[in-house]
Amino acid sequence: MKISAPKGTRDILPAEMYKWHRAAKTFADVCHMYGYEEIRIPTFEDTNLFQRGVGDTTDVVQKEMYTFDDKGGRSITLRPEGTAGVVRSFIENGMTSMPSPVRMFYDITAFRYENVQKGRYREFHQFGLEAFGSEGPKIDVEIISIVNVFFNKMGLKHIALHINSIGCPKCRAAYNEILKDHFRPHMDSMCDDCKNRFERNPLRMIDCKADAEKDIVKNAPRLIDHLCDECREHFEGVKKGLEQIGIDYTIDPNIVRGLDYYTRTVFEFVSENVGTQGTICGGGRYDGLVESVGGPHVPGIGFAMGVERFLMEAEAQEVPFEKPDYVKVYFAGMSDAASAFVAKTCYELRSEGVGCEQDLCGRAFRAQMKYAGKAGIPYLVVVGDDELASGKVKVKKMEDGSETEVAVSELVSYCKNNL
Ligand code: ATP
Ligand code: MG
Repeated sequence: MKISAPKGTRDILPAEMYKWHRAAKTFADVCHMYGYEEIRIPTFEDTNLFQRGVGDTTDVVQKEMYTFDDKGGRSITLRPEGTAGVVRSFIENGMTSMPSPVRMFYDITAFRYENVQKGRYREFHQFGLEAFGSEGPKIDVEIISIVNVFFNKMGLKHIALHINSIGCPKCRAAYNEILKDHFRPHMDSMCDDCKNRFERNPLRMIDCKADAEKDIVKNAPRLIDHLCDECREHFEGVKKGLEQIGIDYTIDPNIVRGLDYYTRTVFEFVSENVGTQGTICGGGRYDGLVESVGGPHVPGIGFAMGVERFLMEAEAQEVPFEKPDYVKVYFAGMSDAASAFVAKTCYELRSEGVGCEQDLCGRAFRAQMKYAGKAGIPYLVVVGDDELASGKVKVKKMEDGSETEVAVSELVSYCKNNL
């Protein structure tokens, strides 16, 4: 029986792993520079967390969650995103009493039962962060700038930033009535999901994928035109802050974001290259979320970036990724005595932080050389009985064939300092 990987999952093979490492390290470095520290949260959580923390009118909760009962009869869900888990941890570990803002980043897998297509998988990866305890627009600007610095450091060219404000419960309640008045006469033509959303969360109707092309959706009143004074002022602050540091943006009144808990600022980084799955990164403010998951009132904001989509964009932009030479030098041994020397030298070199390889398959000398060439190892040292007798070996640079003679007693320090 042939067993394949489950639909919507992908193997990330060793040949491409270095790109993931570089992206993850760059993201961590950028977050650290801004004062964020990493958090690791569980892969699965109590299903209730996502129902409360993501919102039970969202597609994610209604259609996409991997939920099952464990052997103890608990309802468990594989995390469809990171924010809810981080918020749970923030409350559970008493971080609400730490000095604000409390800022954390993460690098996770996430699971959603999706219609699989390019850039849309059932298991995927996210880099994300959350910042708690800061209400003003400065932190909104900070987290948006983190994404830009990350893109810059990775060598990506401009990716469009779209921003919007979806207000607070106060202005949204008033707006929902306006929106319902707009849609009410046309409900017959709307999809079943929208019929359901009409009462429970009419704002979602604007985000509907099935009805998106209908004029009634396109001409819907815009929340951004109905913000309360505080929310309008906050949004002005975000725009001004972005302008102050020179970050371009477009206002897109149609960004609603897939998850229920957002308030005020919402934003997306959108590419033209990733096809219909153009959103590389999405985020926003969630001032009511900590409370709705059982904590005190603490404002929060965050984003999550799809790593697969980010890497697709990097590839589309032909961003160069240099594969590091993890292994610097290959030792070809020509006799039993030589291979004993090689084994000891390799062990010492690795302890000194120099990557090296020796034959592990009993290959003849020529086959060892062939292997080293195919593996692209940049330096070669041939060790035979002659070399051991003379106490000298030649370190050959494969790129140009140049050789340097090194005393056997100096070999480890030479490799450490020169390769
Ligand atoms: P979309 O509208 O594309 O479904 P979303 O609003 O559901 O996105 P978020 O929940 O905001 O996405 O997740 C943040 C980011 O994670 C997205 O911008 C995207 O880059 C990535 N992402 C979301 N779902 C998937 C998926 N199924 N496969 C790969 N990446 C995904
Ligand atoms: Mg989605």
